[in-house]
Amino acid sequence: MKIREFYARLPLTYSFEVFPPKTDDEIRKLYDTIAELKAWGPRFVSVTSRPDRSQRDKTFQIAAHVKHNLGIESMAHLTCVAATEDQICQDLDLARVLGLENILALSGDPPKGSTQSVAGERTLRYASQLVALIKQRSDFGIGVAGHPEGHSECPDKDKVLRDLQRKVDAGAEFVITQLFFDNDHFYDFVERAQRLGIHVPIIPGILPILSTAQVKRFAALSGATLPPSLERDLKRLGNDDAEVQKLGIDYATQQCLDLLEQGVLGIHFYSLNRSASVKAIFKNLGPRWTIAQLTDNPSVSRSRGPDDPTLRDL
Ligand code: FAD
Repeated sequence: MKIREFYARLPLTYSFEVFPPKTDDEIRKLYDTIAELKAWGPRFVSVTSRPDRSQRDKTFQIAAHVKHNLGIESMAHLTCVAATEDQICQDLDLARVLGLENILALSGDPPKGSTQSVAGERTLRYASQLVALIKQRSDFGIGVAGHPEGHSECPDKDKVLRDLQRKVDAGAEFVITQLFFDNDHFYDFVERAQRLGIHVPIIPGILPILSTAQVKRFAALSGATLPPSLERDLKRLGNDDAEVQKLGIDYATQQCLDLLEQGVLGIHFYSLNRSASVKAIFKNLGPRWTIAQLTDNPSVSRSRGPDDPTLRDL
């Protein structure tokens, strides 16, 4: 099923992201994790990919297993930086053969030491080019990345939004955002996107923090800022990962509750292949925001209208 249909039809769509593990044993564990999270009714699982292409087939195979054997819709990430059009077309053929229906089209960060072009061949650089190619060659549902706080390569938030518009104009049907720790960045991003004429669903990406070192690394990579109060708490807890994980669950729960009250169409969790934090967050959200909200029954749909300022036009 195309992911755009979830956002169009359902009151609320939860999803989560996983990455391809290295060993077969870890892949089996990942499938157990996904099966555990299935009890909470996620509508799809997205599987990351790497620009160096070494794991490309694994991304597609895991996405196919999730869809066909675990019974949850899936979405394969596809990066285009330094890839040729021919390579991308081969990727799309493989995805089609495996029965996948959705692609998250990304530029990706160039692999270390790589040049951005391949002699004699047309290479792709930007996700908007990838969206255009996918649209021209296939019938996949297409999502793209959004960057509420700008991008580590480009802190100019207005330019990042204009570049997002190129992706939507090329055919992207929904946007999943980079992680953020202050919801105001998300609300501001959605509002400015709407003013620019971007009217596809924009879905917040939420990271349940697992350790201080990890969140600092991710923040540096993604350009996400840590609010001073969160920074203080992380400093206080230092390397006590168990306590940091608890803090991460509480913090993400508060972020989710606020987003849900504001009427978001869905939440995408950066699960990092772990189920404990996401499960704890679902438990904290309680029945109002979990199973009952996930049914197709229109009687549980929330009304959208003037009370949903961030999503009025989505
Ligand atoms: P683009 O939209 O192409 O933008 C890249 C940069 O180029 C930006 O600075 C943009 O402003 C600029 N730009 C865009 N178009 C133009 C243009 N026409 N002219 C000039 N400048 C332009 N990375 C991975 O490697 N694998 C993954 O699986 C992965 N999954 C992700 C999932 C999500 C939900 C998110 C938010 C990010 C993910 N990333 C992943 C990280 C992502 O690849 C990086 O953030 C990357 O640097 C930007 O990707 P993009 O698709 O937004 O790029």
